[in-house]
Amino acid sequence: LSTHEGILRRQSLRESAARTYARSLPIVPVRARGLTIEGADGRRYLDCLSGAGTLALGHNHPVVLEAIRKVLDSGAPLHILDLATPVKDAFTTELFATLPRQLAEHGRIQFCGPAGTDAVEAALKLVRTATGRTGMLAFTGAYHGMTAGALAASGGARDAGVTRLPYPQNYRCPYGIGGERGAETAARWTENLLDDPKGGIPAPAGMILEPVQGEGGVIPAPDAWMRRMREITASRSIPLIADEVQTGVGRTGTFWAVEHSGVVPDVMVLSKAIGGSLPLAVIVYRDGLDAWEPGAHAGTFRGNQLAMAAGAATLAYVRENRLADRAAVLGARMLGQLQGLAADHPCIGDVRGRGLMIGVELVDPEREDLSSGNPPPPAPALAAAVQQECLRRGLIVELGGRHSGVVRLLPPLTLTDEQAVAVLDRLADALAAAAR
Ligand code: PMP
Repeated sequence: LSTHEGILRRQSLRESAARTYARSLPIVPVRARGLTIEGADGRRYLDCLSGAGTLALGHNHPVVLEAIRKVLDSGAPLHILDLATPVKDAFTTELFATLPRQLAEHGRIQFCGPAGTDAVEAALKLVRTATGRTGMLAFTGAYHGMTAGALAASGGARDAGVTRLPYPQNYRCPYGIGGERGAETAARWTENLLDDPKGGIPAPAGMILEPVQGEGGVIPAPDAWMRRMREITASRSIPLIADEVQTGVGRTGTFWAVEHSGVVPDVMVLSKAIGGSLPLAVIVYRDGLDAWEPGAHAGTFRGNQLAMAAGAATLAYVRENRLADRAAVLGARMLGQLQGLAADHPCIGDVRGRGLMIGVELVDPEREDLSSGNPPPPAPALAAAVQQECLRRGLIVELGGRHSGVVRLLPPLTLTDEQAVAVLDRLADALAAAAR
């Protein structure tokens, strides 16, 4: 057996069947730089999954490596619980420099652990402690993580404490309306639920939303809807939690995705790119919510010095090089080109996204019910085939959406014009091959 095959075979025997990425991406990465991953079999891939949006600067960016090396060479302790250190101080200062002004000036940070889901748990617990209430408002199609609280707030899950509200979407709008009017209908529905003395619900502890749903199939919330959610929650003293785990650090064309609407949430949940490819998750929140006792939210791994150094270097690089602006320009261009591609491929039902968070929803045009006005049904098998055809052409993409029918592109923000062309060429070829 080659190294490549041997590793794949041993892992598939020993690893739980619950593993996900390795099933659809049978590669054995041994080296990586920027957009490119090299496998043990010598094959090279353009990585448009980027750790589900983690790698804002791509793999092994020199400024990230340099920051990590500096900590390693300094003799600083690598494990230090959550004690104050110069590395942590530098990270916090850099992070606060990027935050919406109200949070930067009057906000607090809680280091939560390695994973996004840790920070979601902290956010849910924080607003429950601060309000003394328990119920939570969350949205259809949401993804917040795999631990109990985060999972309960994610779409599809059933939990007595969570009330699920419709997330606005143009394509497959639950009201069959779409656009601003569909979003306004969704907002009214939320208001009625909170205010109806008979059919309504008790005052909840908070509302948690993603400014752009990622795992849910790349669905950007309209800015007007975001502002309505802010108004609805603020006027009823319900803390608003923005989960920016995937949308943060320039990904959507602004440093934080809430900037598009100007909404300042009470709590921001941050992970993925803030650790510069290493594990790090925090919440930042309005000072007034800080009602919990010392020790109320602990955890051993909240002081990852390497992640803080890599994260600070990443945040600074994105800010100094205006990579959010770059993501906006390049993302808009790529969306336009994908919309052009959709004209030739009836199996592309929708192309959408914000910045370099892009989704292509594949459908089965032959099963379209023209009399209903609904879009054709999703085509998960086709999406899986496109993913495999991409892989054959050396392109890594991820799937998302309720039916796994959405091909997602999350390239690094450092993507060059030439690389963007290569990515779209390979995707177009893969689509043509899979749709044949
Ligand atoms: N929230 C959002 C919006 C996410 O996209 C994810 C991960 N895809 C999470 C939370 C959970 O993060 P993690 O996988 O690091 O626990």
